[in-house]
Parts: sequence; structure tokens; C-alpha cells
Amino acid sequence: MFGNRVALFTLFGLEVRANTSWVILAVLVFWTLATGFFPAQLPGLSEPVYWTLGLVGMLGVFFSLLFHEFSHSLVARARGMEITGITLFLFGGAAEMAEEPPTPRIEFEVAAAGPLASLFLCLAFGLLAGLLIQTPLPEYVAALFGYLSLINLLLAVFNMFPGFPLDGGRVLRAWLWHRRGDLLSATRTASRMGQGFGLTLVILGFWALIGIGALGGLWWILIGIFVLGVARAAYEQTAMRLTFEGSPIRRFMAEHPVSVSPDLDLVSFIEDHAYRDHYSVYPVTRDDRLLGRVRTRDVKQIPREEWAQHSVADIMRPFEDQQVAAPDEDAQKVLEKMQRSGTGQIIVADGDRVIGVVTVADLLNHLALRRDLEG
Ligand SMILES: [Zn+2]
Repeated sequence: MFGNRVALFTLFGLEVRANTSWVILAVLVFWTLATGFFPAQLPGLSEPVYWTLGLVGMLGVFFSLLFHEFSHSLVARARGMEITGITLFLFGGAAEMAEEPPTPRIEFEVAAAGPLASLFLCLAFGLLAGLLIQTPLPEYVAALFGYLSLINLLLAVFNMFPGFPLDGGRVLRAWLWHRRGDLLSATRTASRMGQGFGLTLVILGFWALIGIGALGGLWWILIGIFVLGVARAAYEQTAMRLTFEGSPIRRFMAEHPVSVSPDLDLVSFIEDHAYRDHYSVYPVTRDDRLLGRVRTRDVKQIPREEWAQHSVADIMRPFEDQQVAAPDEDAQKVLEKMQRSGTGQIIVADGDRVIGVVTVADLLNHLALRRDLEG
């Protein structure tokens, strides 16, 4: 979901990362504040003051978003959930959880923490603005905190809409999950509300853009499309989780995977394996013992005319942890591992003995078949 991103800093053991699209949001907020909001609110100030207010306001928005996401993350961690970090992107921030909340109560607490934190900041900044206006400091200092108070109110209100993936949608899902005792059905309802919300934003955005010529409508359209996509994916994710969680990965693996011997020469490797079954990675084994892996494209390191004199052992590498699973590992955890590392296949090994292979495609086919047969 967040392709290109850079690590910014680590706080409370959580890594904060920014997706490159965050730059667009930062520039947009800075520009709108410096050329629109503050000149309209506080006419008659000099250009450098407006630019400074824009910059500090933008940093305040950045702080507010992080405060919101840290609240979700810290509550989740206090409830025993694994948090992989916080990512800032075009539409704000996201606390990334390695797993879904285990109970409706925890889901509710984690979801509510964000909007509550934003409401707290709204009150704190509002109070500060009220105090500063009575001091001899320039009026714009109070106006800046007034703006940040408003932004946090908007953050809290927008996020409380009861549609997935917004916080309010998670609160709704927690409540339905608690009442119906059925996570999938609760997710379906919250996801549909989220899709409705996304669609409404898109329609309102088009109306604003074409109807009254407001360029801000474009922003609503983009957010609406994003919400639509994530809301739709939420249901799929949950269906997947409920299918695979609690089952060992060995139930879904293909046994006796194709493997190659380290002594195989590269001509035979290419002709008899790579050109025939077109896998990108092969486990290297001797007597079923896993020695490492060989990637088809690594053959390119060796000039073609020397392939016959080299063997697989020359280009073999050790397996990394995310490419091997134990047979009793939870299938859902294995799937998440594959999604995180972007690998399409994983070797199932009992100690150093290869017993099977699982691909993301196999797991998705299983899900589709089950849905087809069981409705
Ligand atoms: Zn939130």
C-alpha cells in the first residue's frame, strides 16, 4: 500500500516513515496557509510573516497527525498487538498493525484512541489560543493555535464517520462484531458504509469542481477514491484472515516441490528447469536437505559460454527467514509474511528438510474455491 517511503525517526520504539506522496500534502498545506488562510484571517501582515505562519502551521498539522496515529499505536501495543510503525502519506497518517485486533473491545479501544487524542489537542490548542490572545504577543501567534485547534476538531469529526477504514467505521465494526458475534458480517456492513462514504465524497467533489468551480473538489475526489478502495479491500482481508487463521500452513502446501541439486551444471539448470517450469526461485537440496536457494536471474552473473563449467552451488544463496516457514506455522501469519516481504512463494521446511511449497496464488485459489463451494 505504501510503496516508496523513507524512515524519518523512531519514537517510543515505533518507526515513523513518510511515503513520497506526503511531500504533496506538506506543500499543499503550506501553500494554502501562506497564500490563502492566513492572509484572509489576518490581513495587512508582511509576506515573510505569512510564509513563516504557513511553515509553522504545516509542522503543527504534521505533529497533530502523528499525535493521532501514536495514540492508536500505543493503545494497540498496550493491548498486546504488534505495531510495525507509522506511515505518513498523501491523505494523512496510518498506524500499521501487523495483525487485526483480537476482540471487539480491543478494536473499539484502539479505534477510539485516535479521535479522542485529536479532540484533546483541539481543546489544548484552543485553550492556548485563548490565553495567548490576552498576552502582548502578536495576534497571529494566537491565530496559529486557533487554526491548529480547528484542524484537530476536523480530524476528530472526519475520522468518526462510521464507515471503514475510518476510525468511526472500526468503532461500528467493533460494536456489530460484539452484538452479532460474527466478524465477517460486521466487516461487511462497516465496509459498505465506508464505500458509501467514499462514493459520496467523490460525488460531492465532482459537484464542487464542476458545479461551483472549487479546485478543492479534486482533493475530495482523491480521498473518496482512496476510501472506496481501502473499504473494499477490508472485507477481502477479513475473509482471508478468517479462512487461514488457526490452520497450519502445511494444509495448503504442495508437497514434493521442484528442487535442484547444488551439483547441477547451469546449462542443465536453465534448459531442464528454468525454461521448463518457469519458477523464479528454486530451493537447492541434497537428499531433501535444504541448502539454500537459487534465483533464475542470478545465472546472468556467469557469462553464457561458461555455464557448462559452473554448477548451481556457485550462484546459490542462503534462504532468508521470510522465505521459509515451518509446517505448523499459522497460515494467516505466513500469508502476511509473504505480503510484507513481497515474495510470491514460500518454502515449507521441517528443520532443514524441505517438505513443501506454498504460493500466494495457491492460497487465493483456495479462498475462491471455498467461497464458490460454501457460498
Ligand atoms: Zn485514526
